[in-house]
Amino acid sequence: MSFRISPSPAPTVELPSLMSAVVANGAHATLASRPLPTPAAGEVLLRVALAGVCRTDIAAASGLLGVPQGRVLGHEFAGIVVSKHETLPLGTRVAVNPVLPCGACPACRARPSRLCAQPNYLGLQRDGAFATFVSVPSSTLLPIPDTLPWRHAAYLEPVAASAAVLQAHIHPRQTGLIYGDNRIAGLTQRILAAHGFERIHILGTGDTELPADAFDFAVETCPQPDLLARLLHAVRPEGTIVLKSRADRNLDLPLALAVRRRIVLEPVFYGCFTSALELLCDNRLDLNDLLGEALPIEAFRDAFERAESRKTFLVPDPEFPLHPL
Ligand SMILES: [Zn+2]
Ligand SMILES: [Zn+2]
Repeated sequence: MSFRISPSPAPTVELPSLMSAVVANGAHATLASRPLPTPAAGEVLLRVALAGVCRTDIAAASGLLGVPQGRVLGHEFAGIVVSKHETLPLGTRVAVNPVLPCGACPACRARPSRLCAQPNYLGLQRDGAFATFVSVPSSTLLPIPDTLPWRHAAYLEPVAASAAVLQAHIHPRQTGLIYGDNRIAGLTQRILAAHGFERIHILGTGDTELPADAFDFAVETCPQPDLLARLLHAVRPEGTIVLKSRADRNLDLPLALAVRRRIVLEPVFYGCFTSALELLCDNRLDLNDLLGEALPIEAFRDAFERAESRKTFLVPDPEFPLHPL
């Protein structure tokens, strides 16, 4: 990927000693004042430009994910480098891969290492980006061009998650179904379209009757107990069901039907973050109707509510020059 990266905007002010942060607090989240994080060896301090609100954040804020008290939430974000880094000058604009490999599982130990099977996340297992500053491992940084809007940079994680579907054994000439009434379904359709898939249909919970034998593959983005049974009929024999959603919930699998029709169940997790960033930088995805407003961090409750209908962002620092947004 080649593009111009310049340190912009330069950090003009001395770093403060305290910052605002949205932190887990039992079954609610609260706005707290926190000391600035101190980067450990191999880490870099970022000033957060913009952080997207995700369902995971809302679940964590509701106390559903067992996130410890006081943990700073937020994992979808972009910002600028404000502590010394070997190669990136102060002020470099960066997006971040918030999925941190454990380093110990067989996938991490494989050479070349593969996608970790038990990763930690910024904003869940360690402090995240609903804060004015966040410290992250240097390995998570992806420098971004000056022209990439901040909202697009902060949307990198959902794009990389949806781009995982490209790792399934599916082909642009095939007819596909994306099942789900959500932003991820719309985003996945656009990612497939950007890769030459022209015959992709979206159906959702309102479509109780799915056509039989109509698709070469189906992508599940919204788990319902009977969904696999329905998709097993909608996909042609020897077709593929791509498992995409990560809800901690069991689905019914009519085994005899799956075996008789020899349907391939193919789980995918994340696509490549660098490729996802290229997709964003090349402007190959029209995201305008998916991305919503950027609200000040103090309005996080309002932002959590609005995030149900559109991707909503938090602005931790009103002084941050958010251009282009
Ligand atoms: Zn997310
Ligand atoms: Zn691992």
